[in-house]
Amino acid sequence: MNNEYDILIVGGGLVGQVTALTCAKLDGLRVALADGRDILSDETGKSDGRASALSASSLRFLNRLDLALSDYLQPMRDMLITDGGIGEDPVWRLHFGENATDADSAHMIENRHLYAVLRDALKSTDQIDIIGPGNVSDISHTAAGVSAWIRRKEISARLLIAADGPASAIRNRAGIAMDGRHYGQSALVTTISHSLPHDGLALQRFLPGGPLAVLPLPGKRSQIVWSDKSAAIKAAMAISEGDFIAELALRIGDHLGELSLEAPRQSYPLHLQLAQDYIGPRLVLVGDAAHVIHPLAGQGLNLGLRDAATLYDVLSGAFLTGRDIGGAVLGEYAAWRRSDVTSLATATDGLSYIFSAPKTPMRRPLSKALGHARRLGMSAVNDSAVLKDLIMREAAGDLGDLPDLLKK
Ligand SMILES: Cc1cc2nc3c(=O)[nH]c(=O)nc-3n(C[C@H](O)[C@H](O)[C@H](O)COP(=O)(O)OP(=O)(O)OC[C@H]3O[C@@H](n4cnc5c(N)ncnc54)[C@H](O)[C@@H]3O)c2cc1C
Repeated sequence: MNNEYDILIVGGGLVGQVTALTCAKLDGLRVALADGRDILSDETGKSDGRASALSASSLRFLNRLDLALSDYLQPMRDMLITDGGIGEDPVWRLHFGENATDADSAHMIENRHLYAVLRDALKSTDQIDIIGPGNVSDISHTAAGVSAWIRRKEISARLLIAADGPASAIRNRAGIAMDGRHYGQSALVTTISHSLPHDGLALQRFLPGGPLAVLPLPGKRSQIVWSDKSAAIKAAMAISEGDFIAELALRIGDHLGELSLEAPRQSYPLHLQLAQDYIGPRLVLVGDAAHVIHPLAGQGLNLGLRDAATLYDVLSGAFLTGRDIGGAVLGEYAAWRRSDVTSLATATDGLSYIFSAPKTPMRRPLSKALGHARRLGMSAVNDSAVLKDLIMREAAGDLGDLPDLLKK
């Protein structure tokens, strides 16, 4: 195996794998993908109990990579967003999607299936060399490239792409600082099966501690993403399965009939984290290495996919015209991604703040004002076909300056 590449991607999570397959669309570009895990093993990704809501534009992009996803997709045909505590009637309800077609809808896919489809695609291309398993331990720069050490082997490339997740060692080593904050919340994720069909309905219920999402999966199954204060999630992780199902039923109501737990409960601490720069010398950040947002809008992976598609737009122009793919062209990527990421991160952060404003005595007036504001806002949205359409198009990932691979 040759140790010199055009591009070395460190991190073979979902975003790193998609980035590798996207770069490999450029004939003649030599791509290496390194991960601490054995990403070609059948076991990789099996323990990720999450499912992802892929926006319509993300799905178009993945289809353009010829990924065999169709067996695993569940369209979200309708969306209901509501509030109200346990046993209370909701004060407002937002109902979307009456006119949505499957082509315009977001689709749910379990991450383990996405990993399996990506693994098959990686195995069937010879343009990508998989390096490892082994963590990248050291990096050095030359004028024309970058060298990384993986299990005492030196790998050289003209461009290094850091897709190594929220704790990115590559980003930290490059001295790129992060802005953000901890939400003091965690998300409990699991899969349930139920006796009644979900009819493609995605339910998001804003409870006092945080949002609870019930997202449709193929069959009579749904993904639960329950965000709450970390102590409450810790308690929900510790109770028996029976008690957990009873707590869940109290919160989601009876529209799904009898519930049972299909997968172990997993929990994820929630924080907002935005890199101050998306590039460095011969370096690009993608995915959670660049940005981590609250999962309430289900957009983190979608943002990472947009990174990959944007990078392809920028790099293909340089590669095909013989310019340096690790040079000035990276500035275009950074500028393009910053506006998209910042607006989505601000929107999800604002939503999370508005919907989980604490009701302590000090904050009660603020919380009350926010309560009025959100009710007014919600009823305005509910009454306006134009606003609803705008929100649906934002959720579909169809707004803004899209890279070619995401366009209709
Ligand atoms: C509860 C929850 C629900 C979510 N739901 C959605 C959703 O519905 N829709 C959506 O779009 N997004 C969602 N997200 C966000 C989404 O899951 C993440 O944005 C996405 O998985 C990030 O992928 P990544 O590849 O960037 O990072 P990661 O998955 O963290 O992958 C990083 C990879 O880098 C490797 N690595 C790390 N360090 C090194 C090293 N030094 N050397 C070599 N390899 C290394 C790791 O082994 C790993 O494979 C959700 C997130 C959470 C927490």
